[in-house]
Amino acid sequence: MKQDTILTHFGYDTKSGVGAMAVPIYGTTAFDFGSATTAANRFALAELGPIYSRLTNPTLDVLEARFAELEGGAAAITTASGQAAIFFAVANLAEAGDNIIVAKKIYGGATTLLTHTIKRFGIKAKLFDSDNADELENLIDEKTKAIFFESLSNPQIAIPNIEKIVQVAKKHRVATIVDNTVATPILFSPFKHGIDISVYSATKYIGGQGNTMGGIIVSSKGLNTLLKNNPRYAHFNEPDESYHGLVYASLPEFFDINTLRIRLALMRDIGATLSPNSAFLLIQGLETLSLRVQKHCQNAQKIAEFLSTHKRVKSVNYPGLKGDKFYQNAQKYLKDGLSSGLISFDVGDKELATNIINKTKLFKIVVNIGDSKSLITHPASTTHSQLSEAELNTIGIGGGVIRLSVGIEDVSDLIDDLAQALEA
Ligand SMILES: *Cc1c(COP(=O)(O)O)cnc(C)c1O
Repeated sequence: MKQDTILTHFGYDTKSGVGAMAVPIYGTTAFDFGSATTAANRFALAELGPIYSRLTNPTLDVLEARFAELEGGAAAITTASGQAAIFFAVANLAEAGDNIIVAKKIYGGATTLLTHTIKRFGIKAKLFDSDNADELENLIDEKTKAIFFESLSNPQIAIPNIEKIVQVAKKHRVATIVDNTVATPILFSPFKHGIDISVYSATKYIGGQGNTMGGIIVSSKGLNTLLKNNPRYAHFNEPDESYHGLVYASLPEFFDINTLRIRLALMRDIGATLSPNSAFLLIQGLETLSLRVQKHCQNAQKIAEFLSTHKRVKSVNYPGLKGDKFYQNAQKYLKDGLSSGLISFDVGDKELATNIINKTKLFKIVVNIGDSKSLITHPASTTHSQLSEAELNTIGIGGGVIRLSVGIEDVSDLIDDLAQALEA
């Protein structure tokens, strides 16, 4: 099946119930096993089927299967938010005493989670410059459990040297985790580039209408091989005391042991489960994902071109512009060079940036991205305000920077709105 067909059909059989065309919402917390033997078999993984909706639910199953297929991955697990997806992806590989290597240019919430919150769990983050990844190899030691970066970083719209990151990771047999939220599987295919795990805030382009929180983690097909018999990941190769001595690495190859362990251990104990109602909305979003992403990109390209010639704009970050620092990487990694719906631009100082933001009418002042409606934000005082001045400067988010999440409206209306705001 090709991508657009997977988005509309995969993982759901209309003949499985009463013929409902839309995927049914299984609004149930638990499932009748019918017999005590079936109940025991399900817990022992001898028979696969639902147990309790904190672990699995048939509506979530469709979303997970569809998403894994979309990416060409082995399996997926959904979570209550993108932050939960990032936390689970990392916590499944690392424990107290370990370290992870994290790109400097990532989403603000991911930075605080990975550099501050999990430090209190004993997992240390080492930061690297993902634009060139020159220092990456020197940061790896035997306690390094993951390398985390974004395929298109929010809000710098930077595209890392993915080839180099993957090459270094493979050499040391360390798992790579990419946050592919901004690119989406439509623009960037993580596993075709050798990445091991992808994570998403489904809240953004997947849902696409700004109405649902959600997260997704996907394993590549090669991930079992990386985890099995790899001393870095001893916990997959030794009995799990919390699951009556289960050795994940000894399970049949059919099981993707990364998402399985997230489900059986982390989701069981922490419980950041997606609700079936949210899964339903995200499934609706997936049906139009490819159409929307193309329109977001076309609109953003035209707006970036408009901004780059405007006298009040000092600089524009958009990899679809020929002069952009990441233009070559966009051509190399992103589908048809389409460069996402995000643009950031610098007007020089905070006061002017604030005035421009306040004067826009169609662009709403919102700290979200990926909505079908256009959004405008001042990252330094909002999404990234918990970072220090020094942190902000090293990652290029000064007071004059404005971020746009370009929607799917008529682009001439959006340009008119920005033009009048910039006349301030
Ligand atoms: C929004 C976002 C997140 C966090 O996702 P939530 O669904 O808000 O928890 C993570 N990464 C990126 C790139 C994001 O834009």
